[in-house]
Amino acid sequence: SIRIVGLNKAFASPDGGTVAAVRDINLEIGAGRLVTLLGPSGCGKTTLLRMIAGFEEPTSGDIFFGDKRMNDEPPNRRDTAMVFQSYAVFPHLDVFENVAFGLRLRKLGREEIARRVDKVLEQTGLASYARRSPSQLSGGQQQRVALARCIVMEPRVLLFDEPLSNLDAKLREQMRVEIRELQQRVGITSIYVTHDQVEAMSISDEIVVMNAGVVEQVGTPHAIYARPSSRFVADFIGKANFLTATVADGETVEISGVHLPVAEMPARSPGETVAAVLRPEAIHLSPDAGPFRGTVRRVMFLGNIAEYLVEVDGVGSWIVDSANPAEAPLHRVGEPVFLTPSRHALHLLP
Ligand code: ADP
Ligand code: MG
Repeated sequence: SIRIVGLNKAFASPDGGTVAAVRDINLEIGAGRLVTLLGPSGCGKTTLLRMIAGFEEPTSGDIFFGDKRMNDEPPNRRDTAMVFQSYAVFPHLDVFENVAFGLRLRKLGREEIARRVDKVLEQTGLASYARRSPSQLSGGQQQRVALARCIVMEPRVLLFDEPLSNLDAKLREQMRVEIRELQQRVGITSIYVTHDQVEAMSISDEIVVMNAGVVEQVGTPHAIYARPSSRFVADFIGKANFLTATVADGETVEISGVHLPVAEMPARSPGETVAAVLRPEAIHLSPDAGPFRGTVRRVMFLGNIAEYLVEVDGVGSWIVDSANPAEAPLHRVGEPVFLTPSRHALHLLP
């Protein structure tokens, strides 16, 4: 397991000041877990990853692997492996030699190298490509070679820094499934950096949402989506409607005269104003009945769903995602509609 305590990193900036790239981060990553660092570009993900790998020295704070403090250990003594993008594969070596490279540097015996490389080629589905040159492989296969090269070293920790960002969308989707399955099979503790929320949701045991150098929230993909702790998180993960509600009693809030039950009520008194999140798929549209009335202002047909922008009377604009649009006729721009939020769908921000 990895434990990060009060970690900070400040860089000197060109104007003579400093940039706080990572600010007072505390984090625990359980053994064998795949944890994602998710956040917009420049929020400090790579800096945090590089400090864990030992390529970057913290300004203050501690990094532990198990009980051992790693701050003063050089990268090669930390037993981590960094998975880069597929183009980090050596073009002049065949697949087998690419994977064997690190083991040869360690001067292991021929037989042990062959045994370990064969095993990893098997695990990554590359066994029949051992003697191919990387130029004869698809992008996805090259990515697997990059991964195999790390796994064969049997590191304690695998580190991924946006490894799929130079692949096209379809392949990226396929590779993240492969990475997840392989990680679960080999069980190596893994930290995966991405700015892509769908990628993070689909592969992680836990997501660490970062913003401007700090951790905003840590949780399972489900918890982060259902119970975001801030407006930033709600906005960054999926789509969200932000509403202002008034506390009615211990279980309900009121929005424009409509009372809605909430799953969890923070400690607030009746009459107080609260910020609430309502996900677009938790709103039902109907031509004839519902507690809110509105007018359709925009329609986007996206295949599996239709996304509507509805101007809700006395409230503001809501995004509404409607499933099964192929079966139901679409509502049209200008059409009056009624809106019903699902029961307990309203999440109040702390
Ligand atoms: P991310 O990986 O989330 O995009 P980074 O960790 O690369 O973010 O960068 C975080 C912040 O630290 C950014 O403002 C970036 O400009 C700054 N930064 C990163 N590396 C350096 C460096 N070597 N020198 C100066 N500033 C840096
Ligand atoms: Mg980065």
